[in-house]
Amino acid sequence: MFESCPKVNRMCAFCTKDTYNPMTKKYDGVEKLFCGVSTGFDTRVEGLEECWLKMTKSQRTTWAKKKNIEYQTRLQSGGFK
Ligand SMILES: [Zn+2]
Repeated sequence: MFESCPKVNRMCAFCTKDTYNPMTKKYDGVEKLFCGVSTGFDTRVEGLEECWLKMTKSQRTTWAKKKNIEYQTRLQSGGFK
């Protein structure tokens, strides 16, 4: 909570640092920034086009679809191992 968010260049109440990697479903020891208000399986800030709170409903839908495709592709190529 309250990490410096690169999308808005200031402290953000929803950003959290964690070492969890959603693409492998493992804690890989690398610190990443997660957005607490975004929804989906991969809520890393770096994957967002901009701050979730600034995104329009259609941007959010497009993003969620893109992430869902990534998720399905991941599953089909052997899953989260
Ligand atoms: Zn943020």
